[in-house]
Amino acid sequence: MDSERTPHFRPTTQDFRWEGVAHQPYKQDGSAPFKDISRQVLFHEDDLAGELRYFEMDADGYSTLERHEHAHAVMILRGSGSCLVGDEVRAVRQFDLVSIPAWTWHQFRATAGEPLGFLCMVNVLRDRPQLPTQDDLAQLAANPAVARFLGEA
Ligand code: MN
Repeated sequence: MDSERTPHFRPTTQDFRWEGVAHQPYKQDGSAPFKDISRQVLFHEDDLAGELRYFEMDADGYSTLERHEHAHAVMILRGSGSCLVGDEVRAVRQFDLVSIPAWTWHQFRATAGEPLGFLCMVNVLRDRPQLPTQDDLAQLAANPAVARFLGEA
């Protein structure tokens, strides 16, 4: 997004969509580590070194299970579901806040039979996410609550 051309006002056009903001469904094939999720970049401000995105998954969708050096600040904006941060699984709902520190496994799942949408603030400059190895998954699933969350128990 070229900040010189960013309009000052971008009204919402329909539920959880905004004028001039591209709606980007993630492509998925059989091996995709996510399901039924889309992304919209609401703000990208180099001066702030910040980007604010809106992610939304359909009922039963989920984000990628990943970790990375950069942190996330998240606010649930739509619906409810569940969320893994580190070894903690929590139910989340509209307006809940979630802080995801560096190098912490995290995933969102629309487990409540409805879409789950959240705002996610990140640094413009960020490292690529790491996906779990089989060993990582086995360690995560050693925790029964995490195993249930991941659908592996
Ligand atoms: Mn992440």
